[in-house]
Amino acid sequence: MFLLRILFCHFTLMIAFSPVAAEASEWKTGLSSAVITPEEPVWMGGYGARTKPSEGKIHDLYVKALALEGPEGNRVVIVTADVLGFTIEFTNRVYREINKRFGIPREALLLNTSHTHCGPAVPLFKLPLYNMTEDDEEKIDAYVNWLELRYIKVISEAIGNLKPAVLSFSSGTPTPFAVSRRFPSPEGIIYRSGPSSYYTGGPRDDTVPVLKIADSEGNIKAILFGYACHPITLYVYKFCGDYPGFAQQYVEEAYPGATAMFIQGCSGELVPNARYQIEYAMGHGRALADAVKKALDGEQIPIDGSLKCAYDEIILDFQPPPERKVLEENLKSNDGSLKRKAAYLLDILNKNETIETTLPCPLHVIRFGKDVLFIGLSGEPVAEYSVKLKTEYMRHKFVWVAGFCDYDFGYLPTWKVLMEGGYEGGGLFESYTQFSGPFTETVEKRVLEGIHRLVKEVSE
Ligand SMILES: [Zn+2]
Repeated sequence: MFLLRILFCHFTLMIAFSPVAAEASEWKTGLSSAVITPEEPVWMGGYGARTKPSEGKIHDLYVKALALEGPEGNRVVIVTADVLGFTIEFTNRVYREINKRFGIPREALLLNTSHTHCGPAVPLFKLPLYNMTEDDEEKIDAYVNWLELRYIKVISEAIGNLKPAVLSFSSGTPTPFAVSRRFPSPEGIIYRSGPSSYYTGGPRDDTVPVLKIADSEGNIKAILFGYACHPITLYVYKFCGDYPGFAQQYVEEAYPGATAMFIQGCSGELVPNARYQIEYAMGHGRALADAVKKALDGEQIPIDGSLKCAYDEIILDFQPPPERKVLEENLKSNDGSLKRKAAYLLDILNKNETIETTLPCPLHVIRFGKDVLFIGLSGEPVAEYSVKLKTEYMRHKFVWVAGFCDYDFGYLPTWKVLMEGGYEGGGLFESYTQFSGPFTETVEKRVLEGIHRLVKEVSE
């Protein structure tokens, strides 16, 4: 059954009490950011093969919050961070506190993560991917609790800093560096992880959307930009935002006084075409920062209509879990992840509990004025989602499709990718997560139908 929650950000109370709201047609924005680099060595996230905790940093990691208030008093807070991704429990805890403090409804809070693989090993889902000791796990738990407070602090400050602002939108294209690791072969889709053997075909979204926020004097205060590519250039033991971290740094250097915020796109299978050297991470960051600059120098679409947002938490189904005898067989496997998963599921069965076969999938739609439609999917959506949604909503001047919003449960395949199989089609779920199996064939239909309902709501 669908759990449908479509709500609107009607802030009637705020309109009633806000002296500036009466002037109408004025947008307001507030900003805040904080360093979130762990203060002591902790296990790092993203790669299952790491063997030890972090050893220092290349640069700091950040959480950044942008609060927006439309001319009618509706608010949205967008938070970005140099973090791998979160459980839905983390996002819900942050939301509950922010809702308690400010009355912000669920649809008006969106947490995007860059998905850097050189950040702390914040949990994505229950089953550990990593070979950590209990002590390492305790340190990560303590870090996540600390991080939650940082999120609440920056969001609260951003809401508290709301000031009149002028918004405009533009877009650019970098020298593309995202390529697909799903390599088509006569035997089916092969996972190609070496830079010399990636597939340069397949769907991709090389657009760099840019939202510029200036004060009433025209000084740029914030630049929100996006790109779709897994931040896996580096595989080091030092904290680093990977190419999005460098891109934000370069944009802030080019626009002193402005906060640069990176939004990750539909990059499930997209990876950088050059990896493992810091120069490559810097080069991708530079390409992206240059595209942002070009967009800011080019034609701007002014945002002067209203702000509308909608949210839904659809339910996705997993295929039935493996039978007990398959799990018992997997217990003998040499594959550590498959073994850990089998032990986890058998433990549930032995306790006579049910193996969960559904997953909540948060979906966001935000409309900036009449021209810009922002669609935020959860999980790690494959690029085909971006291509389909952009094609479908071409009537808008620009459609921005993001992934990695609110809950990173792993890859979100389209029907085609699910049918083709491979790592993003279901391989990750089979081995590395606690979930019962790959999604059922309804996955894409449910996601797209969910987005259709939300777009309709913000279009009325
Ligand atoms: Zn990933």
